[in-house]
Amino acid sequence: MQPITLSTAMSSPLLERLVSLTCDLMHIPSTESYPAERERCFALCRGRLEPLDGVVIREYESQGFGSMVATAAGVEIPDILLVGHLDVIEHPEIEVYQSSIRDGRLWGPGSGDMKGQCAIMLELFCNLQRRFPGLSLGIAFTSDEERGGEDGVRYLFEDVGLRCGLAMVPDGGAIHRVTVEEKGILQVRIRFIGKEGHAAAPWLGPNSLAALAKCLVRLGEHFDALQDDSLDHWYPTCVPTLCSSPNRTINCIPGEAEATIDLRFPPPYTVESLLAIVTEIAGPGAIVEPVATAPATRLAPDPLYLEITERLTGQPAKLVRASGGSDALYISQYGIPVVLSSPIVGNLHRADEWMDLASMELYYRICEQFILEKLQLG
Ligand SMILES: [Zn+2]
Repeated sequence: MQPITLSTAMSSPLLERLVSLTCDLMHIPSTESYPAERERCFALCRGRLEPLDGVVIREYESQGFGSMVATAAGVEIPDILLVGHLDVIEHPEIEVYQSSIRDGRLWGPGSGDMKGQCAIMLELFCNLQRRFPGLSLGIAFTSDEERGGEDGVRYLFEDVGLRCGLAMVPDGGAIHRVTVEEKGILQVRIRFIGKEGHAAAPWLGPNSLAALAKCLVRLGEHFDALQDDSLDHWYPTCVPTLCSSPNRTINCIPGEAEATIDLRFPPPYTVESLLAIVTEIAGPGAIVEPVATAPATRLAPDPLYLEITERLTGQPAKLVRASGGSDALYISQYGIPVVLSSPIVGNLHRADEWMDLASMELYYRICEQFILEKLQLG
């Protein structure tokens, strides 16, 4: 591991511990295609949790994706559950899974999404369980958020039956920006079947690729017209993401072509209403199948959390709406309040992702104070 040097203004024993743990996690390329690396992240967390007296660790697996839940012994439904994912997105070059500190920021893949937050939660959980043995506080780590969370948080809440009084998911928002609504998700595959033929005789059969291209243009026009000037882009969007045809010959009309589109939508749109719109615009010749869906989510941040944020930062917390989704939806569907905020982060899903170091410690303090007061220990 690289040595960590913090400027004296930035340095505190707590921040040094948080940064060191984050870097240890960041140097492990725990992506979808490296199951052994994901397991190394769990091993690192296990190593921190196991020495805690009276803490029980439960480990699960769904379709090859692990998850881990720790609580005090006897606490089945913790009042507060800290939730994070240890997986990071896949970059083509494995060498980018490094870390560096510069300009008051920790740089590198996973710093802001969300190994920095996982380190904060792990440190906080261990410190509080040591100070208050038996505390009704749990921690859950999963390893498939970047591919949708089906085998992580969804699996834990729907299949294992995990429950809590309130969940903290530091995977969205920022220190003063607490997310209250997330757009729903509809990912759809659209396929056209035409007739294979020679490109010199296009009159002989319908060209599936041309039909698909026209369909994508119609969809683009429809959704472009729904844009308004809301600063948080609170309208449905439709983005083509993949396009392919089995054809490999330049002078051949493709017999088949398909594309995927990724739609994000606020209420009152629903998965069903949006799918009906897409199917109608695509027309009778298209085969439209949903690939992944998630409803638009309303979260209920705790008023005490907002108050503590203002108290510790001197600035009121802002309630914001987010275009991207998170694991929070699998929790809030059970009526469980979710606090979705985070330290200040940037360049997410890029090799130069970063987390602001001062806000890292501040976020720890806000969460600590919130847990102490919520559980009436402060
Ligand atoms: Zn994330």
